[in-house]
Amino acid sequence: MSITPSSDKIARYELFRVTPRWLFLRIKTANGVVGWGEPVVEGYAESVESAVHVMMESLMGKDPARIHYHWQTIAKGDFYGGLGPVMMSALAGIDQALWDIKGKTLGASVVDLLGGAVRDRQMVYGHVAADFEPDDVAAAIAKQRCDDYGFKLIKLCGSPPMGYTDMQGSIEAGAARVAEVRKAVGPDIQIAVDFHGRCKLPMVRKLIRALEPYDIAFFEEVVHPDFNDAMPDLANWTEVPLATGERMFHYAEFYDLLRKPGVSIIQPDLSHAGGITHCLDIARLAEHRDVALAPHCPLGPIALAACLAVDFVCLNAEYQESGIGLTYTAEDGGRGVLDYVLNADDFKLDDDGMMPPLPGPGLGVQMNEEVIREVAADAHKWRGPIEPLPDGSPTRW
Ligand SMILES: [Mg+2]
Repeated sequence: MSITPSSDKIARYELFRVTPRWLFLRIKTANGVVGWGEPVVEGYAESVESAVHVMMESLMGKDPARIHYHWQTIAKGDFYGGLGPVMMSALAGIDQALWDIKGKTLGASVVDLLGGAVRDRQMVYGHVAADFEPDDVAAAIAKQRCDDYGFKLIKLCGSPPMGYTDMQGSIEAGAARVAEVRKAVGPDIQIAVDFHGRCKLPMVRKLIRALEPYDIAFFEEVVHPDFNDAMPDLANWTEVPLATGERMFHYAEFYDLLRKPGVSIIQPDLSHAGGITHCLDIARLAEHRDVALAPHCPLGPIALAACLAVDFVCLNAEYQESGIGLTYTAEDGGRGVLDYVLNADDFKLDDDGMMPPLPGPGLGVQMNEEVIREVAADAHKWRGPIEPLPDGSPTRW
């Protein structure tokens, strides 16, 4: 028996570096089917761009329908494979675009291709921003996001940059910020707090204790993933669920994390961890360990659509992060998730803060190519901020 190839071939591709800090990939087939992906590591968009060029060399003229074959060939057919953030993000964007093409070719949504939805609606949440801004600003933004977009869960950063001990009142500042947000949104909105991996291990317990009184849905990245071996101990110490995973790129890392109880929610990023193909494996692994899924997504509309496709076929998909409504600065171009799509109405939340599946085919995101081309003509060179501690030493932002 031989494999019957589809009649189509991967014919060309284009990359668009668009504000605020994203990279879009457009793959077109010989039959004229267009698929979109979002391969990016924020701050290293140009590096991911280079990796996409190398990977696409081997895909030109190939059958776009053989997604698993292409994924495995890129990830495992090469000596170094695709284990690190740059390569796994490049592969993620290609994978998303190929799923989009497959759906459009067959006239089906990616959700249907993956077996169909296990739920009618998906809980989607917004966030305030990773930066640590004055309390009154965070509280006002949180309230505005919930009012304007219908979020029933809002996430904010609760950890200012901090040393190994708190010499500058950071714990109090974090608690004050969360208290202000709780006061602003009221008791009916869920609040999640991101430590952004910037709190060092000696201070984690103290910060958790300071924030617990504000009815927290989950704590995110209480430690940087380098210190994930501390998670079981930390989980024994608080009743608030612990979440992590946005800076983990491969199944093996999640396997290692989930071997011991501790983390309650994993947050793989569909644009960093090998795309739909690999994140589905990671999501199923978590499901079999009774761990929830909440894909990380402060990125653009293609990444969000890919996340939703996985969410709708995963029983454990509890929450979906969304950058909808995030305010980027004028310096960034001020554009957000919905500025790049033609079907913004499909991304609206209902009265319970949930979204139905995006209407297909493919990923269900209709890209506004005119805007994309216009913005990409002045390609960004976004870099993460450097925020030293008061003594001048570097720390994670
Ligand atoms: Mg985070």
